[in-house]
Amino acid sequence: MKKIINHPGLGNVIYTKRKSSRTIRVRIVSDGDVQVSLPCRVSFAVAAAFVDRNRKRIEDLMDVRKKKIAGKTFLPGLSEAELQDLRKNAGKILPARASSLAAALLRKIREEDLYKLLPLSDRFKVRIKEGYTPFAYGRLAIKNNKSNWGSCSSLNNLNLNMQLLRLPADLMDFVIIHELCHLVYHNHGPGFHALLDALCDGMEKEKAGRLKRFIIR
Ligand SMILES: [Zn+2]
Repeated sequence: MKKIINHPGLGNVIYTKRKSSRTIRVRIVSDGDVQVSLPCRVSFAVAAAFVDRNRKRIEDLMDVRKKKIAGKTFLPGLSEAELQDLRKNAGKILPARASSLAAALLRKIREEDLYKLLPLSDRFKVRIKEGYTPFAYGRLAIKNNKSNWGSCSSLNNLNLNMQLLRLPADLMDFVIIHELCHLVYHNHGPGFHALLDALCDGMEKEKAGRLKRFIIR
């Protein structure tokens, strides 16, 4: 059972009775709202009084949270139907985008003679010149998670988060390029960053900074 009670200092507080709750617990959720869970036997009024008694501590927690989320953009949670739509679109768009970016990056390396500038092994440079694509991947899976935008396995399989479709287009590409660079470097060492930065025309820092501001709820 849920109830929203407005507290004059804290704003709207969401109270939820839970069978699993043993005590009254307060937490500040991602965008700074106060959520309280309470055992079923405890009345909402008792929980509200508890919140009022602990107001100072809750305000401190809200301040910490506010500092943490300053400048962040929260992507709100989606309904089941919206998630289904997103999954369907992601299944079409992400694989196509990954393969066209892989081809474009290889072209870029060749046309701009980037292979001469990059900290790649001589053998690798020769292979690129000969037409070998360093951005060939195995399986591409579409995931839905909150912890990462994408990943690359040691077997060169890629995972991309369907939530990428909700980012500005250039950040979606940036994540895909990041994962494609892991096909060359399976780490975040200097070589990896040099490659990624070169392929992003020196914008890696700027894009990484903007990407960090997006949080999936
Ligand atoms: Zn990475």
